Formats: sequence, structure tokens, C-alpha cells
Amino acid sequence: MTTLQPDGTIAYFSMEYGLENGMNTYNGGLGILAGDVVRGFADLDVDAVGLTLLNDRGLGHQYIDEYGTQHIEPAPWPVEEFCEPLDATVEMTIGDETVTIGAWRYDVESEHGGTVPVIMLDTDREENPHWIRELTRRVYAPGKDDRFKLAVYLVLGIGGVRMLDELGYDVSTYHMNEGHASFLTLELLSRNDLDADAVREQCVFTTHTPVAAAHDEYPIELLNELLDDELISMYTVRQYSPRGKIHTTRLALNLSRYVNGVAKRHQEVSREMFPEHAEKIDAITNGAHVPTWVGDEMAEVFDEHMRNWRRFPTKLQHATLIDDQPLWEAHQAQKRDLIDYVEDRQGVELDEDVLTLGFARRAVPYKRAPLLFEDVDRLREVIARSGDVQVVYAGKAFPGDPRGREIIEQIYGYADELEDEITITYLENYDMEMGLALTSGVDVWLNNPRRPREASGTSGMKAAFNGVPQFSTIDGWWVEGHIEGETGWSIGPEPHSPREERMTDAKETLVDSTALYDTLENDVLPTYYDDREKWVDIMRNAIAFNGSRYHARRMMEEYLADAYDA
Ligand SMILES: *Cc1c(COP(=O)(O)O)cnc(C)c1O
Repeated sequence: MTTLQPDGTIAYFSMEYGLENGMNTYNGGLGILAGDVVRGFADLDVDAVGLTLLNDRGLGHQYIDEYGTQHIEPAPWPVEEFCEPLDATVEMTIGDETVTIGAWRYDVESEHGGTVPVIMLDTDREENPHWIRELTRRVYAPGKDDRFKLAVYLVLGIGGVRMLDELGYDVSTYHMNEGHASFLTLELLSRNDLDADAVREQCVFTTHTPVAAAHDEYPIELLNELLDDELISMYTVRQYSPRGKIHTTRLALNLSRYVNGVAKRHQEVSREMFPEHAEKIDAITNGAHVPTWVGDEMAEVFDEHMRNWRRFPTKLQHATLIDDQPLWEAHQAQKRDLIDYVEDRQGVELDEDVLTLGFARRAVPYKRAPLLFEDVDRLREVIARSGDVQVVYAGKAFPGDPRGREIIEQIYGYADELEDEITITYLENYDMEMGLALTSGVDVWLNNPRRPREASGTSGMKAAFNGVPQFSTIDGWWVEGHIEGETGWSIGPEPHSPREERMTDAKETLVDSTALYDTLENDVLPTYYDDREKWVDIMRNAIAFNGSRYHARRMMEEYLADAYDA
């Protein structure tokens, strides 16, 4: 089907995968992206296979008590309902243990393309010691020590390569989605008589981490304890991860033929972080999978105007031809669906005629969920002058992360404080279904990370597919996707402007919150309440300019041309 079909199978390794709502096998954007990548492979009928861990206890279900305190409980999902058990097993050595690894298969099927299997590794077998059985159970092993986490990565990388071999895949490219999978290079070095060039020929690496301190690194002695010395010597490992640490990103950078960041801005930041690899670091801006992330009512309107838009989402550019009324009505219908959803879940009543902001992201400090409330009095003035808003939040803090939990408590605090003025609700247990309900049902998608921390972001793309404009700091994909007042709005200065470069951390929050209030008061609210025609233009532009471009098919065509064809 595609002229770019590579020889051999592409194996896409990722610690987490957002496959289906019932499978609690992801933590956030990285996993959702991995899901959209394999959905993109399936649409293009590319010979590919996904590889991950079973993660059968999930990340956890989020409960929030009346004080806004998050509680996470393990949320096992029914593996047999989604996956087929495979007979194959492989063995590897971890420390003194011989570990047996089994596997399950989940099929990603495309309506108009092919099927791509995702192989999920499982160490929970009777023959394994207790701690080994736990390795593939919870996403990112919350509460476990570094030794345990390294063992998990070894299973993913080394066990993964062996399992694909055992299952008979003829892999031509191993694609590491983030550094967690980078130990697969050690297995490949061993198989190729330590010929690093031969390994590079087979490896592609996508980095997602724009902050130096956030790259995974561990004491090298820990790896020494766990790594099978018959496989590879620590002397060799140190050549590819120097400086006395095992640094998963450097290992992948050193042993890949092609590396990319996930947006243009992220490419720049990655090149600054790893100057010795600058030439090799390319950019492929993320895209979200259109058929997965368009609400039902909007899909009906698209069906009437753009044949085959699911298969060729570039056609969303013809959204310019959709009339105001059907577009607005489809949006309002999706908004009512969201209002019902929120009432069912949270017992909170939202108003169909009030501008609704949506904000759903992992609760981590750099995403700054409470930025809207930085100056509550100013916010009150904005509303008094320009019209009401209501806000829907969602997002999990990583289990055991006190700073993430505090963010949710803060939002709860503001919801109480502003109870009589603004309806603010925090939905429990953000998942894929909720992601779709929110990005397709709010009026404006709010995003205000500290820059340059948002490598790309994809939820704003889902919003664009649904004609929901984004209101965001100019970071990640928004550097490319934003046309002021046309596809959405910016918050704060342009990247590389003298103003941006001078900002200290505290200043950034002040500058951004002020910009947020100004734009909300002078542009967003007046357009929404007083110029509906202009508003619907912006909705249409979000679909036509951003939806037609920031989709998984375009992303996968770029991977096929730039990464796999190399
Ligand atoms: C889309 C999505 C994400 C990723 O969105 P970002 O914009 O990258 O934060 C995370 N979680 C869920 C459930 C999603 O649907």
C-alpha cells in the first residue's frame, strides 16, 4: 500500500502503551503516543510489531477524597479479555537468577489497513523467584528501588529482542521509544561480535525528555550486579555510557543510526543537551491518531464533507468548506455529551452556554495546573468584565509523588474558594475515554507548561481534530501549530525572544499568568460571547490547519521516509 514499505519488520519498543481504555497499561503521553504509532503502522499496513511489558496491574485507579487528596489503588485489568497467551518462552539472566519470560499478544487492527501485533512480556511465572514475578506487573514500578527498575528495563530490552526472535520476527529496525528500552543494544552488541556499527544499522531512537536532569541514569555498579557477564562485559557497556553512570539516553544515542526529538523546538533543545550527537538528532513532530480521537458528532459532519478522512486525515484541510451551523451544532452536541459525562462522574452541573476550559495532564509541577489561579482577584476581574468561564480538570499524580498530589489538592482548594463564581471540577481517573470526552467537548484546550519542558504534547492535537482551539504557552508542537487568533492563542513570549531568554523561573510564572489573563479578557472571552462568527472561524481553522497536519499518518510517513529508510 505504501511505497515506503521497509524490508523486514519494525519493532517498536515502549515501556507503556495506550491501547484500549480497558487496559490500564500507560502512565501518560508517552504511552498514548506509542498506541497512536502502532495504530498508524496498522493504517499504513506496515510490517511492524510492538513490544512492551504486560503491566497487568496497571498504573492504578485514581480516587480523590473530599480534601482533594489522591489515592491510587492497583487496577489489574482482565488480560485474557484483551490478549491471547503465547506458548513461547525465553530465558535471560538477571543477577544470580535465571528468568523465564512468557508473552501475550494484543492485535491493533485498522479499519482500512492491516493488523499490527503488540507483544507483551510477562515474568509472572511459577518458575521465577518472587521479586522477578513482579517485574512486569505495574507500569514504571512505583515504590520500587533502582535495582528493581533496572531489572525491569533489562527484561524489556534483552528479553524483548529474544522474544521477537523466538516468535520468528525478522526485525530490520529496533525503534526505542524513550531510553527505557535501550538495553536492547546490549543484546544486539553481543549478537554482532561487539560491532557497534552493525548495531547502529539496526537501531532508531526517539527521545522525549527536554530536561537534562530528567534523563534516567543509575550507578553503574547496579548494572554490574544485574547484567549477565556472559552476555557482555561492563568494559564494553562503559564505552557507550561513559562518566561512571548507566545513562539510558546516552546508550541509545551512541548506538542508533537515527535519533529524533518529537517537535522542532524539542530537536533544538536535545541538540543543546547532547552536542556531540547534534548532527544525528532530527525532528519528527508527533501526531495523534485521527480515527481514535474524533468525537461522534464531529465525525458525522466530516463524513458529509470529506470522503475517506479517517484514512487520509490531510483531507481535514477541507474543513474550510464546512458551514458555521453544522460545525457549531456538532460542537455543542459534543459539549452536551461532556456535560452529561461530568454530571454522571462527579455530580457537577456545567452550563452549555458558558465558555468551558479543559485541562487534563499528568499532575507534575512543570505543567503548572494551577496557573489560572495565580492571581485570583485578577481572574475575578476578567470574568466580571468579559464573561463567565467554567473549568474541567483531570490528571493523575504518579503513585507516591507528593508534589503531584499537592497540585490536585491546590485545584480543589481553588474550586472551594471560587465556588460561587466559577464552576471548577476535577475528574477522577484520567484515561483514554476521558481524554476523548474532554478534548472533543470543551470550548478551549488550556495548556501552560514551563518552557521548554513540553517536548511535544498531543492532547492539543486531539482538540484540534474536534475544532477545539488551544490556548497555550508557545512550547512543544504549539511553536509550529499556533497562528495567533486563528488556530488558537498563545500564552507568554515567543521562544528565543529576548524577553523569553531573560526570564527566571519565578518570573516565568508571573509573565505567563499575566499573559493568560490578558488574552482571556481581551480575546478569548469577547470572541466567544460577542463574535460567534469569528469563533467558528477559529474552530474551523483548528481542524483545517492543525488537524490536517498533526496526525499519526503524517508522523508515520515521516518515520518511514526519514528514520526507517535510512
Ligand atoms: C492524549 C493523552 C495524553 C497526552 O497528552 P499531553 O498533551 O501530551 O499531555 C495523556 N493521557 C491521556 C489519557 C491522553 O488521552
